[in-house]
Amino acid sequence: MAENIRLEVVTPEKEVVNAMAQIVMAPGSLGEFGVLSGHTPFMTALKIGAIHYRDESGKDQYVFVSGGFAEALPDKVTVLAESAERMEDIDPKRAKEAMERAEKRLADERAKEEIDRARARAALERAVMRLKLAALS
Ligand code: ATP
Repeated sequence: MAENIRLEVVTPEKEVVNAMAQIVMAPGSLGEFGVLSGHTPFMTALKIGAIHYRDESGKDQYVFVSGGFAEALPDKVTVLAESAERMEDIDPKRAKEAMERAEKRLADERAKEEIDRARARAALERAVMRLKLAALS
């Protein structure tokens, strides 16, 4: 059987995951990718999405990430995320409120500035992904 790899997910605030995994899947900016032990080293930017890994006991785990970077080495994956939460730590009420705020901003006829709309779209994407993951826990 293949060896396990270490997964570390950190944000500027905290270490969110430090665990051994059988496989790690992550939302790369060019598409979803998977890393097994022995993978060729590479680095990529991440999109808003979920890090999905199978832990040592074979259980599937999901971690929200709001972009950032991932570095894969043969025995380790490091994710530096702007923000990240394990699915069981996501507060669905907060995500729902963030979703409603973002939807309101996008519906507001006065908010025509593209920068504001882009921010609201990103906030909406984060909130929808958090709600999806919270529903899995
Ligand atoms: P909000 O508008 O609710 O702050 P956001 O998408 O703008 O949402 P972020 O900037 O991604 O929030 O994160 C700020 C901090 O709050 C981070 O530490 C992040 O982990 C945490 N956080 C944000 N939303 C949630 C949530 N629904 N549940 C748990 N932690 C959250």
